[in-house]
Amino acid sequence: MESKDLLNLTEKYGTPLYVYNADVIESQYNRIINAFKTVKKVKVNYAVKALSNISVLKLFKKLKSGLDTVSIQEVQLGLKAGFSPKEIIYTPNGVSFEEIVKVAKLGVQINIDNLSILEQFGHLYPEIPVCVRINPHIMAGGNRKISVGHIDSKFGISIHQVPHILRIADNTKMIINGVHMHTGSDILDIDVFVSATEILFNVAEQFKDLAFIDLGSGFKVPYKEGDICTNIEELGEKLSERFNEFCKNYGRTISLMFEPGKFLVSESGKFLAKVNVIKQTTSNVFAGIDSGFNHLIRPMFYDAYHHITNLSNPEGRDRYYTVVGYICETDTFGTNRRISEIRENDILCFNNAGAYCFSMASNYNSRFKPAEVLWYQGKDYLIRSRDTFDDIIKNQIEIAL
Ligand SMILES: *Cc1c(COP(=O)(O)O)cnc(C)c1O
Repeated sequence: MESKDLLNLTEKYGTPLYVYNADVIESQYNRIINAFKTVKKVKVNYAVKALSNISVLKLFKKLKSGLDTVSIQEVQLGLKAGFSPKEIIYTPNGVSFEEIVKVAKLGVQINIDNLSILEQFGHLYPEIPVCVRINPHIMAGGNRKISVGHIDSKFGISIHQVPHILRIADNTKMIINGVHMHTGSDILDIDVFVSATEILFNVAEQFKDLAFIDLGSGFKVPYKEGDICTNIEELGEKLSERFNEFCKNYGRTISLMFEPGKFLVSESGKFLAKVNVIKQTTSNVFAGIDSGFNHLIRPMFYDAYHHITNLSNPEGRDRYYTVVGYICETDTFGTNRRISEIRENDILCFNNAGAYCFSMASNYNSRFKPAEVLWYQGKDYLIRSRDTFDDIIKNQIEIAL
């Protein structure tokens, strides 16, 4: 998928446009599988919320991935994409008991993250095995906190409450078949992650019916040149050995699971937008594009860096631009970026547009959500058409006034 291909796609489908390269997704998936190849049973469950297009889910199905979901709607998408309930894990936070029961009855593996729901569930459905999400409260580094679930986080059941989990399981006769943690933070320091898993292994030993240990995600990818990212190969080397040793002591081979989102899809995505206007002010040159935080909110919401290039004028002289959107409030994609000279109607390309980009898009300003294209085996497939006015008005009810 080269620049000229991307430019052709903007001609064919218009802008703004999301394009995902299936080859990148596949190679990231294989990196994890290869990193843990000495583990007998390893399972990657793709975190649907990062990029939830059904065709992307089908690609993961083809790769033999499972799914990690956080809502019943994501579960339904997964089932529609052809996954069996057994290939899906559901890790909600703060959702209703009714929804959890519904998902469990579909045959999906549920992961419970608080004692109240655990107890209710165990009383009513002791025959359905559940996984528990543990918050290990690990802090590391001098004053730089790399927190994998700090003590006041809303996620997970505190490591200090493990005796309480055991008591609930004993009282209700429910079966705990998995223990889970999801750090949520970017894993850069492999040793910190390994010590967090050590804590989880200690917890896991206390449960007799485990089928798996789920180590969540938090794998980081590079956003700009020189960025440090998770060295998955090194992590695999350190963790595989430790996990195999755990299985030996546990007396049984259980599965090792992960649920990455960003790592699998971030770098596969390009977001393409057209420059509507170049505006010189007393201090700045703005490039205003035909998009805004309604389509790509990460720079404004998380202060995320997305590398921007000018596909239309790659040989142009480098100049400095502040790239902004068309939303009627401040929506800056990048400040003072060095980009080859931008002219009106040029196509700009935003990197790392696979994860948490389209999936967080909205219709703010009553704009259409962009189209999505999957680049698969050298060909382009439209996997979502651009909104039309019907989508904007669909659920609105006009009353007679
Ligand atoms: C969001 C989420 C993930 C994926 O996180 P990434 O940083 O995208 O890898 C995994 N597990 C759970 C429970 C999540 O909520």
